[in-house]
Amino acid sequence: MCNVEDQDLLPPSKAKNASRTCIKCKEVAQIVLRADNCYCRSCFIAYFTHKFRATIGKSKLIRSNEKVLLAFSGGPRSSAMLYLVHEGLSENIHKKLRFLPGVVFIDDGAILQLSENERRNYLEFIRTTVSKTGFPLFCESLGKIFPTNQDTNIQSNLLSSDLSNTTRSDATSSSNFDLDTLIKRFKNDELKIVQVFEKLPNSTAKEDMLHILRKKLIQQIAEANGYTKVMFADCGTRLAVKILSDIAQGRGSSVAHDVTFADERNQAVTLVRPMREFLTKEVANYLTLKSIDYRTRLSLTTMKPVKSSIERLTENFVTDLQASFPSTVNTICRTGDKLSVGDTSKIDADAICPLCDSRIDTNNSLEGKTTSKTTSKICQNTADSCCGEGDGSCNRIARINLTAKEIEDRLCYGCRLIFHSNNWEMDDLPQFLIDAIEKQLRRKRLKEEIEEFLLD
Ligand SMILES: [Zn+2]
Ligand SMILES: [Zn+2]
Repeated sequence: MCNVEDQDLLPPSKAKNASRTCIKCKEVAQIVLRADNCYCRSCFIAYFTHKFRATIGKSKLIRSNEKVLLAFSGGPRSSAMLYLVHEGLSENIHKKLRFLPGVVFIDDGAILQLSENERRNYLEFIRTTVSKTGFPLFCESLGKIFPTNQDTNIQSNLLSSDLSNTTRSDATSSSNFDLDTLIKRFKNDELKIVQVFEKLPNSTAKEDMLHILRKKLIQQIAEANGYTKVMFADCGTRLAVKILSDIAQGRGSSVAHDVTFADERNQAVTLVRPMREFLTKEVANYLTLKSIDYRTRLSLTTMKPVKSSIERLTENFVTDLQASFPSTVNTICRTGDKLSVGDTSKIDADAICPLCDSRIDTNNSLEGKTTSKTTSKICQNTADSCCGEGDGSCNRIARINLTAKEIEDRLCYGCRLIFHSNNWEMDDLPQFLIDAIEKQLRRKRLKEEIEEFLLD
C-alpha cells in the first residue's frame, strides 16, 4: 500500500514524556498526535467516534433508513469506517446512525497480478470481516466494467454475509466452494481489462484509470441495487495527495468534487466521504486501540521507485512535508475546501467528461491523432426511427459510428492523457463510455436538426 500508511501504521505513540496529559481529562496521555494534542485512550476513542458521526450528521445529507453502500477494500481506512458504522448502528446512544448499510468490495487482483491463492485469501478475509457486521456484501471483479455478451446489467454476487448461524466448519467449507466459483467467474470477466491495462502508456495512466473504473463500477452496483449513497473512506491525508496529484495531472476542474464531503455529480448515486476530517496517523491509532484487523493493500506502484507515478511521487512529497510540518495536510485540505463545487444541476450535460464526470471547462486540445477508427458495436437495433427524446432512451436510434476524434473531443484533458498513445482500439473502451458519448452526440445532432425551428 502507500507510503503514507506504511509509515504511520505503527503502534500508538506512547507519550514520550510522562508529564504529557490528556487535553480533555488531564490524565496521563497515551496518544500523542502533536506536541500540544495528546489524549488518553478513552478520550481519543470518544473524540474519533464523535468526529466521524458529526461529519455525517452536520451534512444532513443521509436520511433515516436510506440505503448506503460502504466501499470496502480491507485496507486500514475502510476497515476503520466499517467498524465505526457497525458500532454506530448497534449502540443505543445519542446520535445513533440510522441508515441501512451494505458493503461493496471490488476485486482488482487481476490488474495487480495477484496469484489465485492470494486472491482467495483476500476474499476470505473480506467475507469474514463483513460477516461479523451482518451487512450484505457485494463482491465484484473490476473486469465487470467491460461486460461480456453485451450484458450491461450488473449482476453482482451477493455473498451471504450472515454466517453467524452456521458452525465454523460449515462456514469454512461452503466459503471455499463459493470463492473458487467466484474467482473462476471473475477470471472470465477479466480478459479484456488486463489487455486494456497492458496498453496504457505508464503507471500514472494506469492508476488514474483504476480509480475511475473502480468508482464507476461501485456507482453501477449501488444504482442496480437501490443504494442512493456510497461512502468512501478517503481521509484528509489521502485527499491532500489527491488535490495535488489532480492538479499535476491536469484535473484541476474536478478537484472540488474529488475532496468535498458529498460529490453529487452523479444524480442517482451521491458519493460521501465521512473520514475526510482524519489524518492517517489518527486512523492508525484508532485501529490499534480497537484491535481492528485490516490488510495492507497493494497498489500498482508498490515496491516501485518513488518517481514511478505522479500519485506516488505526490504521496511521498506530502508525507515528507507532513513529518516536518504537522499542519501540511490540513492546510492543503482547507485550500481545497475553498474551491466551490457550484450547482451541479446547472452544468450542461454536454460539458461533462463521460469517463470521469468532471466538467470540461476549456477547449484544451491535445495534439491528438485523427485516425479513422470507427466502431459499430454500439447499437444492435436496426430500426431508424426514434421516439423523439433523442437521448437513446427508446433504443430505436439509427446506428452511430464513432471516430477516435469524436471520442477524444468528448473527454477532459486528464482523461485524454490516459488514452494518449496510438495503440488502443475502440474495443478497449468500456461500454458505459461509448454509451455516454453516443448519447451526447445524439443530443447534439438533434439540437442541430431543430435549431432552425427555434425562436431566438
Ligand atoms: Zn482523557
Ligand atoms: Zn475526464
